[in-house]
Amino acid sequence: MMMEEDLKLIIPGEVRVRIAPSPTGHLHIGTARTALFNYLFAKKHEGSFILRIEDTDVERSKKEWEQEIMEGLKWLGIEWSEGPDIGGDYGPYRQSERREIYSRYIQKLLKEDKAYYCFCSKEELESQKQYQMSIGEPPRYSGKCRNLSPQKVKEYLKAKKPFIIRFKTPSKKIVFQDMIRGKIEFDTTLFGDFCIAKSLTDPLYNLACVIDDFEMKITHVIRGEDHIPNTPKQILFQEALGFPQPKFAHLPLILGPDRSKLSKRHGATSIAEYRKDGYLAEALTNFIALLSWNPGTEREVFSMPSLIKEFSIEKIQKSGAIFNITKLDWMNGFYIRQKSPEKLTEYCIPYLVEKNLIESAFEAEGLPGQFYKIIETGEKISLKRLEKIISLYQERLKKLSEIPELTHFFFKGKLEYDKESLRWKDTEDKEIKNILKKLKKILSKIKSENWTEKNLTNILMAEADKIGDRGKILWPLRISLTGEKASAGPFEVATVLGKEKTLERLDQAYDIL
Ligand code: GLU
Repeated sequence: MMMEEDLKLIIPGEVRVRIAPSPTGHLHIGTARTALFNYLFAKKHEGSFILRIEDTDVERSKKEWEQEIMEGLKWLGIEWSEGPDIGGDYGPYRQSERREIYSRYIQKLLKEDKAYYCFCSKEELESQKQYQMSIGEPPRYSGKCRNLSPQKVKEYLKAKKPFIIRFKTPSKKIVFQDMIRGKIEFDTTLFGDFCIAKSLTDPLYNLACVIDDFEMKITHVIRGEDHIPNTPKQILFQEALGFPQPKFAHLPLILGPDRSKLSKRHGATSIAEYRKDGYLAEALTNFIALLSWNPGTEREVFSMPSLIKEFSIEKIQKSGAIFNITKLDWMNGFYIRQKSPEKLTEYCIPYLVEKNLIESAFEAEGLPGQFYKIIETGEKISLKRLEKIISLYQERLKKLSEIPELTHFFFKGKLEYDKESLRWKDTEDKEIKNILKKLKKILSKIKSENWTEKNLTNILMAEADKIGDRGKILWPLRISLTGEKASAGPFEVATVLGKEKTLERLDQAYDIL
């Protein structure tokens, strides 16, 4: 829906956009998408992307949330060039620190008779609202304090009568061109004289937002569709204060698979949860970018630089974007496969530590490289060996948090499984014992330096073929080494376990029988 004209208005270097989160909860997928689209738009047009913290709701705003939001955005690769942590020419960038600025504008609106003090009590307003609803009218302020005489106002203020500030809403049609949705119209008579500030220094969201967008020279307001009803009110303020109107672009909702608005009941909604669950930042950014933005080709994999190159507001759809976790998992698996074994291991280690399989790194005396302690056995394990273990799963890993479950048997002293799982079809106990003995004999003969996957495969496959039914050898071998029916292949596991551990596990299996 973007017009030719809109495009002409985008002057490279002059775009200034912002993400304006309220620090009242986790960094939500929706906020991350809004931030990403603003960031991409800014980068694409060599402009500036600004972070503004909207913490005017003192009771609900918390520094911890602010911290989490900033960390989450940075982790996703979305960096701002002005913000509360780094400052900038148009600061402060926290609304709670901008009260003086707001006060100036609130006073101006009062002075110019575009706003007024309202002394009506809460009870009075509530009963008015109930009455209007009972006769089927939309609730709006009656206008009772609109024409109070200046003397009366002075008198009430002197008597410290509680007040709020209301806007003198002009009755008119507001029409604006949304860059995504096209023409949007509102009739302001429906608003009545709404509240714009709780005091001379406490504006409500709509007013604070307009003042900040103006003072921070914001050129484009790109935000969620839930803000469409706020836009006409914001335009009224822009007109009342003589501010230029920024361009607006409202992003469609993010929906769950049942097409209702994405919420907790569909699963995790915060970036922190996805991060903890082992999704990579690149995968999440790529996935989020495709929530309502469609490059117009089959291509799905985009790095941040390619997103910057390809992104355009015209390619944002109007209809809701469905959050498809299967696609996210696929994408994450894709990015996991692109990692070097070293990097992937670095990413996986915290998950092994968290599940108490290994303990954090140390340097072992006289030995090169880094080591970890296997908690159950007290043995040390080198980073190199951890890399080998993790690499076994690189192809099938969908998220990092799966790694402890997949690899835990590498970090055990004795494996727990019952005797029956060692049985291939109806092989008798005696035969299994013989096979285990045979396996041990063959494997003992292999010199440590020849303990490679290739050799193990050749030797053991030849043996299995001799017996005819390969499962008779391969199955008890797999169970002995892993304790699990589904695992990485027994030759791969034996290679990574090493000769000593492999033989030890065959002995354990023998004992179980
Ligand atoms: N603080 C608002 C929010 O978090 C910002 C809305 C806007 O971008 O104007 O939804």
